[in-house]
Amino acid sequence: MGSSPFKVIEGGAAAKPKRPRKTKESVLWECRFCEVDIGVRTRQLIKVRTHARQDGKLKITGGDDIWVCAFCMTRGKMTPVTA
Ligand SMILES: [Zn+2]
Repeated sequence: MGSSPFKVIEGGAAAKPKRPRKTKESVLWECRFCEVDIGVRTRQLIKVRTHARQDGKLKITGGDDIWVCAFCMTRGKMTPVTA
């Protein structure tokens, strides 16, 4: 067993790799799907309710709001930009 894949580190644990810090800076959202399709990065979003439910009185309840590119939708595509 001379060639173990594990390396013994003397004097404690190895230093944890630093995770990049999250920044509060915001950048302008642009649709990269539109850039591919029509050559322009559009910047318009619309909110869409997904997975909604309907009760016995035909009232819509529940579901999740997602943001979708408005221009993709006019071309018949659903491009959710939020999970
Ligand atoms: Zn788009």
